[in-house]
Formats: sequence, C-alpha cells, structure tokens
Amino acid sequence: MTEILALHAFEDNYIWLLRAGGFAVVVDPGDAAPVLDHLERSGDRLCAILATHHHGDHVGGLAEILQRFPVPVFGPALENIPGVTHPLAGGERIELPEIALELEVISVPGHTRGHIAYYGPSLHDHGAVFCGDTLFGAGCGRLFEGTPAQMLESLTKLAALPAPTLVYCAHEYTQSNMRFALAVEPGSIAIQRRSEHVAKDRAAGRATIPTSIHAELQTNPFLRWDAPAVRAAAANRLGRAPADAVETFAAIREWKNRF
Ligand code: ZN
Ligand code: FE
Repeated sequence: MTEILALHAFEDNYIWLLRAGGFAVVVDPGDAAPVLDHLERSGDRLCAILATHHHGDHVGGLAEILQRFPVPVFGPALENIPGVTHPLAGGERIELPEIALELEVISVPGHTRGHIAYYGPSLHDHGAVFCGDTLFGAGCGRLFEGTPAQMLESLTKLAALPAPTLVYCAHEYTQSNMRFALAVEPGSIAIQRRSEHVAKDRAAGRATIPTSIHAELQTNPFLRWDAPAVRAAAANRLGRAPADAVETFAAIREWKNRF
C-alpha cells in the first residue's frame, strides 16, 4: 500500500511524497530541504523524482537532491529542466518498481507549454492524480505559456478521470479560490458548503488537499463551463453570450486574474 505524505515548502507549496516498502518517490521538489529531512528522519530510500513543469517552486530542489541521491527524474519533454533523465510527452506509462506503482502520464499544457500530470489508477483504491499547477482546489493555474483552448482541453482530460480520483495539486490555494467560486456562482449550495468546510479546515491548520474530481466538478468554476450560472457570469464579463466553452472558460479565467 502506497502512502502519500505532504511535505510543505515555501508559503503554500506541497511536495508529495509516495512511500512504500522503505522507498520513496517525490513529486515537484521545489525545495530540497524538506525532502532531505524526510529521508533522513524516516530512513526511506529515494528511488525517483517526478516533475510536472519547469517552474522553480516545483523543480528548484532537484540539483541539491540529485547531488546526494542520483535517481531517475521524470519530467516534461517540452521543457528544459536540468536533471531530467526520462522526458515525457504524455500518453506514456511509467514503472516505479521499488514502490510497486505504475503511473500514466497525461499531457496538460496551459499553465506551461509542456506541463504533464501523473495518474495512478491503483493509488488509494480509487486512483490519484498529481497535477502540479493545472487543476487546484476550486481553481486552475494561470495561463503563462498556453492558450485558454489548451487549458480547457487539459482540464477536460482531468475532469474525465473517475469521479472518486483524488487530486494532489501543488498549492494550498483552495480557500482564496473558494471566494472566487462563490462570486461566480453565488447561488450554489455546494460551493457555500465547501467554502465553510474549507474555512474550518484552514482555521484548524489542516490541508484542503487532496481534493477529488467529484468535488471539483461540483464547485470549481474552471470545470463548470457548461453550468448555466457560469455561462451567465461569463456573459456578464463579455457583455454578450459566450460563443462556446473556450470563451466561457477564457472569460472566467480573465476575471480571476483581476479578482
Ligand atoms: Zn507553476
Ligand atoms: Fe507552482
């Protein structure tokens, strides 16, 4: 059974650590210190590193970790990340034999041009996805290198995973994202409930991640481009009805950038 731990980095980053049988794999080590600390304290042996995209808060710790533990590094083929030994474009299956895990690689460009996600159907019985800065709790990543159409397609792939799939994103942004979700759909009971729940969790110092595809489908404005209230909010921003899902998504994303 693979255990998934959150290592905290910087203000609000999560470095996910998968461990089983004395071995560990880390996802997006923006900082080496929490990873090296964990390995020292637990005695886990690092056997691989997974990177979702090239931003420093996700790969900044690579060099220092690799100096101590020269393990294979999986990462996006389209991005230049020093240390990556296994470039991935999406569609591959990767084997992590030490922790008895197989992951599927999903191409999710938009936040960055080569962004990838790692989906483990066997994790937690119902599956888990490590999606970096693509899908967040009640939000999505900013479009630094991709178009709204690309991001919409990427989010559509994640939304199509089985509903109970747990979502391990790389930032604790849920509470502020909930405020925006409520502004988009003020009448949504699901969003109001989740908002209260998230506020309680944060007040108690608890993580709101992992979330689930199910929860995101109900409350994340960036997965709800078909919902009448979200289309209406987009129309309000555009001053006319959005022509399609891409326009709806783009208008909501644009609003969030200024929110
Ligand atoms: Zn990023
Ligand atoms: Fe980030």
